[in-house]
Amino acid sequence: MNADQEWGERFVRLALAIDEHMPGYIDAYFGPEEWKVQAKQAGKLLLSDLSGQAQKLSTDISEADGLSAPRREYLARHVIAMQMSLRLLQGEQVSLADEVEAIYGVRPQWKDEANFEEAYRLLDEVLPAGASLKERMLEWERSLEIPVEKVKELLPLIITRLRNFTDQKLNLPENESFTVEFVYNQPWGAYNWYLGNFRSRIEINTDLPTRISFLPTLMAHEGYPGHHTDLAIKEKLLVQELKYHEFTVNLINAPSALMAEGIATTARKAVLTDDELEEWFGEELLPAAGMAHIDSRRILAIGKAGRKMSGIDGNAAFMLHDQHKSEAEVSLYLQKYGLSTEQEAKQRIDFISNPLYRSYIFTYYVGYDLLEELFQHVDRDRYFRRIIEEPVTPGLVRQWISEFSEV
Ligand SMILES: [Zn+2]
Repeated sequence: MNADQEWGERFVRLALAIDEHMPGYIDAYFGPEEWKVQAKQAGKLLLSDLSGQAQKLSTDISEADGLSAPRREYLARHVIAMQMSLRLLQGEQVSLADEVEAIYGVRPQWKDEANFEEAYRLLDEVLPAGASLKERMLEWERSLEIPVEKVKELLPLIITRLRNFTDQKLNLPENESFTVEFVYNQPWGAYNWYLGNFRSRIEINTDLPTRISFLPTLMAHEGYPGHHTDLAIKEKLLVQELKYHEFTVNLINAPSALMAEGIATTARKAVLTDDELEEWFGEELLPAAGMAHIDSRRILAIGKAGRKMSGIDGNAAFMLHDQHKSEAEVSLYLQKYGLSTEQEAKQRIDFISNPLYRSYIFTYYVGYDLLEELFQHVDRDRYFRRIIEEPVTPGLVRQWISEFSEV
């Protein structure tokens, strides 16, 4: 084994040992089976020993010769995240902002509700007429619901088109593919399970209704050019070619998760502009769904306005964990400010109640905001590709932003 592989092995073995204490910590693993089997056999090692190993790994990384700067930064930042997870496992009380900062490398802020008022003003302009804003929003969303059978019928159409665009821009590995399955009773709306060898299984949760307006963005997020594409290309370039074995493990509570959600939430824009999406809805998707009467321009305008409400879920996480508000209070907050139904609010609360996900909730909008800020200063295509192909941390993106905004 050469030194390049050894860094990856130490990193992966530590991650596998932490996962023994916190099942679900590892979202995907496709490295050597033997390492996983050995971690399972070892079971729960002493947390203080794991903290010692993390400390040693951190010191060795900082002193190592021959590590490229981006790889060193990637490894070092991820070990910091592991150290926080180990502190939390040992029962340490930490504020949610400190937890998120150590794990993802960005400090989240409470979003002032004044920010959401801009969204309401825009929504008021574009939603069909009706009673209160919330009722108008719910009515609009109901009008876009499609049954699972229809979703199954439309998916091949959507996936094929997104795949073609993605392949043109990013060169997909040969033989990559994913399956789509419908599941229920999950805290998330959809999930990409990366299986290794350029394969994924995408699950769509049917607890809440699916809307036609959301399908292209959903498949871009999970499949092309989002999670599945990101992990398949990283496997090809970073694992198979460069032997960076740390990329065979995908952690939920690590800076790579913020990058992954940044990629996924900006994925649709990487392959389709707003105008192209609007045209696709109008000319193909809405007629195919039997919804030709729906105005595709309105779908885009409402989606854009709705994006200004991002940050509400993060506020809900602060309320639940730092301010110790009751679930009932948080539910009312989400229903009021997020224009959600009680059922949607409950799903959000279930998600942020999970110790693995309470910090994860920030990855979506913080990741989106970080990458969109970068794309204001650089060529979107070129940097979207770099973020997928190279070891990039949120800190490196920040550095790029400050370099390019000075020019
Ligand atoms: Zn995602």
